[in-house]
Amino acid sequence: MKMENLEGVVTQTANDAFNALKKRQFLQRNPSIASRKEKLTKLLNWVMDNRLRLKQAVHRDFQKPSVEVDISEAYPVIGEIKHALNNIDQWTRPTKVDATINYLGTRSEIRYEPKGVCLILSPWNFPFNLSVGPLVSCLAAGNVALLKPSEETPNTSQLIAEMVEEVFDGDVMVLQGGKEIASELLALPFDHIFFTGSPEVGKIVMKAAATHLASITLELGGKSPAIIHSSARIKETAKRIVFGKFLNNGQTCIAPDYLVIHEDIKEEVIAELKIQIDKLFGDGVSISEQSSSYGRVINERHFNRLKEMMADAVEKGAKIELSGELNSTTRFFHPAIISEVPANARIMEEEIFGPILPIITFHNESEVIELVNSKPKPLALYVFSTNKKFRESILHQTSAGSVCINDCVLQFMHPNLPFGGVNNSGIGKSHGYYGFLSFSNEKPVLKQKRGFALSYLFYPPFSKRMKTLLEPILRWF
Ligand code: NAD
Repeated sequence: MKMENLEGVVTQTANDAFNALKKRQFLQRNPSIASRKEKLTKLLNWVMDNRLRLKQAVHRDFQKPSVEVDISEAYPVIGEIKHALNNIDQWTRPTKVDATINYLGTRSEIRYEPKGVCLILSPWNFPFNLSVGPLVSCLAAGNVALLKPSEETPNTSQLIAEMVEEVFDGDVMVLQGGKEIASELLALPFDHIFFTGSPEVGKIVMKAAATHLASITLELGGKSPAIIHSSARIKETAKRIVFGKFLNNGQTCIAPDYLVIHEDIKEEVIAELKIQIDKLFGDGVSISEQSSSYGRVINERHFNRLKEMMADAVEKGAKIELSGELNSTTRFFHPAIISEVPANARIMEEEIFGPILPIITFHNESEVIELVNSKPKPLALYVFSTNKKFRESILHQTSAGSVCINDCVLQFMHPNLPFGGVNNSGIGKSHGYYGFLSFSNEKPVLKQKRGFALSYLFYPPFSKRMKTLLEPILRWF
């Protein structure tokens, strides 16, 4: 498979690319902070200067509105780079740790060394953000990287390849293609694999990593619930849910997948959701193919999958509250709301990843907790409630990769919060300092003083005196 690096070298295989990066990493080993800043600054300038190219590429791939590209593709990367530039001195500084009483006389610290040659495999839904975002952490930590963006967004993937050629100098490479290329890459002994995608492929990645005992970060997906308590501020709740759900046409890993609404307020919430859909995504009128803020489904396969999911739910007894035109040629999928969805409908079992919002209702708190805990741990969990006791109870009794209270999706962009899933929704964290740590080996370094050391007390021969001495040590220290 053909690929190029920046020194003009055309490499033919994943193996050649890996070896070139390995050589590069061997030469630079632990690059200076100044050189890391230089790379990040060049990357930042490129993103700032090429927003138009980015908008065109993403639009060609799935008609993402131009402002949405700025918000959800360019800005998260720009923010990530600026945050890294502002904090890299502090992140890379060795962290001194205090000696405990049994380590008196020693000095210890944690140093942060690059893991080495890293592989970044990305999905299609935020094709630029989810490829270049992790690259920022990877470079801040001093690594070299091979990026394999998604084959489903060929225009954006090509732009990423061009960006790498224009910005870097052999320490980042891009290989384009689908799962065949990904499999070739996964067979190689990368030091770290950062994968963003589905839990199914995440398992393949984890198995492959085990062959070489590569460390992994898995940013996966799943069904993220939004729980709406009877105390919620309905208008505000509906507006925020509509934004989080229908942004990127529902193709967002942390979009509210389904709503769990208190029975008493169900009708009111549904009515407000409909109003907000037209307000936010229909340019203030009924949503249509002409709506400038509403995107498209990525491809025909996903379009048909969504249609089938909805048909399956209706066949099993769900009620359509809102639907409209479904145009498979343009992949325009009108926002849909369905209620009374039975638990055995596919839509309640599989990640939706599209503009369909199923609603189920609850009467008491324990029902909600049982429901959330009966499914794999979600990537995100949303609670809309003004009742602190209810919120705390949900937080305390359920598990999720991240939680956002009285809003949704915002937690993703907070530079000081770790982002990631738990078990089925992911392993490891990304963004800011946590992304830096994912790509770093936290190396403990202990320095012993000269002369007598406390550890001598434990050296053989294991005399009677030593046994007597050990008793209080085991008991008290
Ligand atoms: P995907 O798992 O199908 O593909 C992701 C990457 O893996 C692509 O680069 C693809 O080429 C590669 N791949 C696909 N099949 C493979 C195989 N058999 N072996 C090796 N590599 C393979 O995911 P997708 O459809 O691109 O994205 C949607 C999924 O990603 C959803 O589940 C979504 O929730 C998740 N996601 C998670 C996050 C997050 O940050 N946690 C962000 C975005 C998307």
